[in-house]
Amino acid sequence: MNRAIPLYRLQQLDQEEEALRRRLREVTAALGETPALREARQTAQRAADEAHRWAVRQRDLELAVQGLKDEIASAERTLYNGSVRNPKALDDLQKKVLSLKKLREKREEELLEAMIAREEAEEAQKQAQAHLAEVEAAWKRDQAALEAEKGQLEARQAEIARARTALLPSIPREDLELYRNLRRTKGGLAVAVMRFGACTACGMEVPSGRLERARETDLFFCGNCERILIAEDAL
Ligand SMILES: [Zn+2]
Repeated sequence: MNRAIPLYRLQQLDQEEEALRRRLREVTAALGETPALREARQTAQRAADEAHRWAVRQRDLELAVQGLKDEIASAERTLYNGSVRNPKALDDLQKKVLSLKKLREKREEELLEAMIAREEAEEAQKQAQAHLAEVEAAWKRDQAALEAEKGQLEARQAEIARARTALLPSIPREDLELYRNLRRTKGGLAVAVMRFGACTACGMEVPSGRLERARETDLFFCGNCERILIAEDAL
């Protein structure tokens, strides 16, 4: 058997293993919360806080308005029940009622604004919540797909490890060392396929005289890039 064949198979396994490891790193990095999910959650939280702030403000203003109404009613009772006769005191009381009424009007305006702002904030909160639900659902689907892919990648890694273990005993030690050296120094490609009489790694044509010799010797190297060559028809 051509000595280059098990090396070529080993290279295929090693290359696939490298690609699997790269993808596993990406998949592992993509697992967990995404910036989009965190942002949607923060936006929903901010919107909820804002709606709550306006609800509290509305309640405070309702209480303030009610307090002023009570105070005005009480002052007006005093004003009209005849218990105060002193003109100066009556005048002061009338002024007080007027100023309380002005203040009540101001608080009622503020209350109206707060009610409108609260409605808007609650609408914004609803939208932010709906957006969060969408982002969360998409995120969960993505995470499930990533978890499934991770499982497949790991299963394939185990298969490759088994295939490597089965293949290694068939490779002579010096071939394995050569393969490792070439992989290290030749950009990960130790064994190149020869197609139409040329090395597919560097494109150099293999002289026909050497091609003949290649059929006689079991390991044959590209005269240009020095990789192990394997004829396409030998695969
Ligand atoms: Zn070459």
